[in-house]
Amino acid sequence: MKDEIRKDIFGRDVVIATSRSKRPGAFLHKHGREKACPFCPGSEHKTEKTILALPNEKNWKVRVFKNKFPVLYDRSMKPIKQNFYSTFTPCGAHEILIETRGHDREYFNMPEKDIVLIIKALKERHEQLMKIPDVNYVTIFKNKGLRGGASLAHPHMQIIASPIFPHKISEEMRESENYFKQEKKCAYCAVINNEVKERKRVVYRNRDWVVICPFVSRWPYQTTILPRRHFSDLSKMSDAEMGTMAKATKRLFYAYSKLFEDPPYNLMYHNFPESDFWHFHISVYPRLITPAGFEFFGLNVNITQPEQAASELKKSMK
Ligand SMILES: [Zn+2]
Ligand SMILES: [Zn+2]
Repeated sequence: MKDEIRKDIFGRDVVIATSRSKRPGAFLHKHGREKACPFCPGSEHKTEKTILALPNEKNWKVRVFKNKFPVLYDRSMKPIKQNFYSTFTPCGAHEILIETRGHDREYFNMPEKDIVLIIKALKERHEQLMKIPDVNYVTIFKNKGLRGGASLAHPHMQIIASPIFPHKISEEMRESENYFKQEKKCAYCAVINNEVKERKRVVYRNRDWVVICPFVSRWPYQTTILPRRHFSDLSKMSDAEMGTMAKATKRLFYAYSKLFEDPPYNLMYHNFPESDFWHFHISVYPRLITPAGFEFFGLNVNITQPEQAASELKKSMK
């Protein structure tokens, strides 16, 4: 069975990546006991070769390499079949970014300057991957813990370059653009103004960033990390903003660890093409509950009030 990108008449798309089923533990529900972690220093030979290492390859603190079981990997997107349904070659790239040498590290116990290195590496890989001719989007995310969907415990992020936009991102782009056309301002700039004024959902703020529990939080203790300055994508983030973002991240995850003892979570970069209506931000979804089933329909029921979550997170900060 060939890997491919599929599109149907409803405008839906999916990446079929059968090679990923060969990865250890693909369909297991439990972590097997890890013998030797392939992401720890000294095991570099167990992974694909280094694409980027910061500050340098020998003493790396952040290391990027190609995923051994990539979701997408072809250099160009060519049609395979065009009849009732359409299929295309799996164009794109799939990389792993090791965030730290420490197997059990989390943002709250890392130096801020090491978090800055992670952001720098993401910025650089985003820039390079966007140069692949048919690539339109670079998805950046982190799964932590078994309930967060991570197959290996060592802190790492994934970077997927693709010709297609993730559904959540294109939905958000459409809504933000509609808001901009009606209100003549960026939706997220408006949200930031409102949240800073109302204060009750603000978890943390510094000169450049604000962390909130969104008014419509779909998951308990869900947060959004937003830059106060309007910019759409990672490439526009200044060095100063990287420093203050590292500070905000460290503080937020300290609060999470204090409240929930280092919980599993999903972290997603909402990175957009440059524009007046798309505003860069990061979403964090702690995995504190098991989905009840109706979430698959998009009916979200949240058992924690976002205002309560914000107040608890704020109180738990150092
Ligand atoms: Zn490790
Ligand atoms: Zn904005």
